[in-house]
Amino acid sequence: MRRLLLIGGGHAHVYVLDALARSPYPDCEVTLISPYPRQIYSGMLPGWIAGHYSIEQCAIPISLLASRAGIRFVQSACTELDSELKQVRCANGETIPFDIASIDSGSDVDLGLDPGALEFALPIRPIEGFVAAWPGLLERARQAKSGFMLSIVGDGAAGTELAFSIKQRFAREQLANAQVTLIGGNALPLSGLPERLRNTALALLKQHGIPFLANRRAIELIAGHVRLSDATSLACDVSLLVTGAAAPTWPSASGLACDEKGFIRVTPTLQSTSHPFVFAAGDVAAYAEPRPKSGVFAVRAGPVLANNLRSVLTGKTMQRWAPQGKALYLISTGKRHALAAWGPLYTSGVWVWRWKDRIDRRFMQRFS
Ligand SMILES: Cc1cc2nc3c(=O)[nH]c(=O)nc-3n(C[C@H](O)[C@H](O)[C@H](O)COP(=O)(O)OP(=O)(O)OC[C@H]3O[C@@H](n4cnc5c(N)ncnc54)[C@H](O)[C@@H]3O)c2cc1C
Repeated sequence: MRRLLLIGGGHAHVYVLDALARSPYPDCEVTLISPYPRQIYSGMLPGWIAGHYSIEQCAIPISLLASRAGIRFVQSACTELDSELKQVRCANGETIPFDIASIDSGSDVDLGLDPGALEFALPIRPIEGFVAAWPGLLERARQAKSGFMLSIVGDGAAGTELAFSIKQRFAREQLANAQVTLIGGNALPLSGLPERLRNTALALLKQHGIPFLANRRAIELIAGHVRLSDATSLACDVSLLVTGAAAPTWPSASGLACDEKGFIRVTPTLQSTSHPFVFAAGDVAAYAEPRPKSGVFAVRAGPVLANNLRSVLTGKTMQRWAPQGKALYLISTGKRHALAAWGPLYTSGVWVWRWKDRIDRRFMQRFS
């Protein structure tokens, strides 16, 4: 009996759980380790903040999927992988041996700041940490008589979408004194997307009353202030850090070949380039053809990963996967309105939000 260990309940692994529920891997004992019994689908998180969805509508019940697949679920985080002894150590002290391991544990927030800064800021990851903190933040905004200022550090797709959704929530709750400011290192938000779409986003931020502090980086977070790279500072009650993806430290410490940022290098079959008995997909993986850290690629890798894990266990030929060149970006702007980009093409409107809503709900339905 071989032992397959799934590390992380991310977007690719939910496809593996689905495949296992449909048809178990032969002669194989499977264990899933993940710190939470559910996986919050980040694509719908801004909609939860804005008030369009309940948290249950945004949650994939991975412990239930594990039980449906007939596998063991360990609610903990992997802290160490020993590639010689083929075992992992978990935060709960448990040691779990494996023959084949598959890693889909996502990324951390790239703080790029003194870790002490976290005393005055909230990182968007782990998403469960943010989900737990959000009601308290909202309550502080409700109670603040003399105004409440929330700054969002990071002007990528996630930071910009969160700025719109938080502003929408403040408006919905009629918190006229609660403000949102977006801080970004670029001249326009949404770097990497078509310039005209970025200009549209800037105009929408203005229209929604969200100041955009362009070409500035947060360099220090202190009580009541964010110090910025242009030697100015912004008074704010709390900062939300959405500053891009950083690799967790344990994969590179385990001796797995990693890229210069610490993400696990994988072949087109999603196997570690140094340890073929370890597979990786999603944000934690560095594909041969680099791609942005985006859920789309984790989702697309899922069926290939599920197939290749079965193939490696049964001695069959594995499938090769090249991530698509272009990804569809759908960015909601608060009030059931969204922007879309596909390569150089872009559009926006209420219908784009409905389209995004349909795609997100369909994805969730498959795993609910
Ligand atoms: C606000 C926001 C909105 C976003 N919107 C979109 C969008 O609309 N479209 C899009 O394509 N991308 C979006 N993204 C990016 C997207 O969230 C990530 O690219 C995607 O989640 C990566 O998927 P993953 O499977 O690699 O990891 P994740 O989805 O992060 O899942 C990792 C899982 O592993 C678990 N885990 C973590 N550490 C460990 C450990 N040490 N041991 C065991 N388990 C562990 C986690 O708890 C989690 O369950 C958004 C991101 C944010 C922050």
